[in-house]
Order: sequence, then structure tokens, then C-alpha cells
Amino acid sequence: SGKFFVGGNWKANGTKESVSKLVSGLNSAQFPSEVDVIVAPTFIHLPYVVENIDSRYQVSAQNCWVGRAGAYTGEIAPEQLTDMSVPWVILGHSERRSLLEEGNDFVGAKAANALTHGLKVIACIGETLEQRETGHMYDVLEGQLKGVADNVVNWTDVVVAYEPVWAIGTGKVATPDQAQEVHAFIRKWLAEKVSQEVSAATRIIYGGSVNDQNAAELASKGDVDGFLVGGASLKADAFATICNARA
Ligand code: 13P
Repeated sequence: SGKFFVGGNWKANGTKESVSKLVSGLNSAQFPSEVDVIVAPTFIHLPYVVENIDSRYQVSAQNCWVGRAGAYTGEIAPEQLTDMSVPWVILGHSERRSLLEEGNDFVGAKAANALTHGLKVIACIGETLEQRETGHMYDVLEGQLKGVADNVVNWTDVVVAYEPVWAIGTGKVATPDQAQEVHAFIRKWLAEKVSQEVSAATRIIYGGSVNDQNAAELASKGDVDGFLVGGASLKADAFATICNARA
């Protein structure tokens, strides 16, 4: 449901040279106008990308601070992103949850703060292989969803990204049926805990080893509303193919 949504999460990749090449590649890529395409460079590359990427793309940060601008060394606050014409932020990515110990409440508080300051949020959730194999997948996903839902009043500017940790950067993409099963669970959870309207309107996108070969089959599933792409988003051609996955 909703407009097809493809995000490119560049993570901590890129140099001045590679980012400039990627931006020119993206500027000549073809994709239908009825797709929302978002790119998320590092903070340090944001101003360059905002100024040089064409207007078919929207730009995202990969994180932001949980409060206002001020004495928070090393952080970037939401109002600094909007001031820089950055409309989106990715929050709760599993790399931050695991490497930087961001918990569900903290991610929820960041989402609330980002939305309050006018950012749109890509909220990431996802289970580890161990959690899946020991039968804790739905508990984990529910806790992560609740962290967001308890803090979000208006869901218009929220996209939920399901990114199973075992599929991220591993080449082990979820099967279309695995993705559909979890996306349907998320949609049902939203219907029961938030509202039918929010459930129907919220984009639920998949991330984890999406590439130009597997995107079309994943996109054919009813509850897969797009993708959050890591590695393949660093190649303009592959990323463009993914943006055309539902064409
Ligand atoms: P990969 O596409 O490299 O597996 O990364 C997915 C991801 O974490 C996007 O946020």
C-alpha cells in the first residue's frame, strides 16, 4: 500500500570522489515518477548531496540526536537537518541498535523528537538469526514496534523498515515468503495497536541483501511496499534497477 519507496542507506561509505560519481550516476538513472526514492549519505556528505542530486531524489540522514540542538558533542539535531534541507532520517538501524546499544525506548524517543521537528522517519526493526531460530522473532519485533508506536502520534511521516539482521550485508536475502510473512505481521500489529487507517497507509519496506536480481520478486509480494538498500545502493545502475522493481 502507498507509493513504492526505495531508500539507499550508504552507511559509513564514500569519499568526496566516490560520492560525486555516485551522485552523477544517480542523476542519469531512470525510474518511474511514482516511486519515492531516498538516499542517505553520511552526515559529512549530506550538504554535497543535497546540492548536487536532482530533485527526483529526497535526502536522508542515517541518525539524529534525541533532543534539541545544544551541548551534545558529536551529535546532529533534527532542526539542523531540516535547516540543511534534509527531510528524512533513518532511526533504529540494527547496526546502531547492536553496536551502539540503542534500545527500543531510545529509538522511540528519537522518532518522536525527529517528527516534532518536521523530519520524516524511516524506523528500522528486525530480529537476529538466534532470535528467529529460538522462537523469539515476533516478541522482538513487537517490542521494537511498540517502542516506535508508543512515541508516534502522527504516522503520516513514518515508514517502517523490516531488516532481519541475518540478511544485512550477508548476501542471505529473506525469501519473498519470509518477507511477506513478517510484513503481514507488522501490518496486522499496526491495525490492532494503532488503527486500521495507519495499518493500510503505512509503507512497510524490506531491507537485507536486496539487489538488482532479487528485488522484483520481493516487490511482487502484497505487503512489501519498497526497500531499504545497503550495498547495492552504492552502485547507481543496481540501485536504479531496484527503483524499477515494481514497474
Ligand atoms: P545490505 O543491503 O548491504 O544488506 O544492507 C541493508 C541495510 O542495512 C539497509 O539499511
